[in-house]
Amino acid sequence: MKYLILFILFVIFWAYLKKSIKHNKTEDNKLVKCEQCSIYLPEEDAKKHTDWNETHYFCSDTCEKKYLEEKQ
Ligand SMILES: [Zn+2]
Repeated sequence: MKYLILFILFVIFWAYLKKSIKHNKTEDNKLVKCEQCSIYLPEEDAKKHTDWNETHYFCSDTCEKKYLEEKQ
């Protein structure tokens, strides 16, 4: 019985640890700048547009479209 409690505590501790690692990861999330409207957003939410060997980030499809239209 004693070991069962220890095991449960370990599982809870482990779940907590995993959660906090995940949490830290999101906090470290790299921010990128939308090339069109200059707002910052997390890289994973940004739209990526690779142009030759350069990567451009956009907050939305609209910004990406606008940027590409203005470039032409
Ligand atoms: Zn934008």
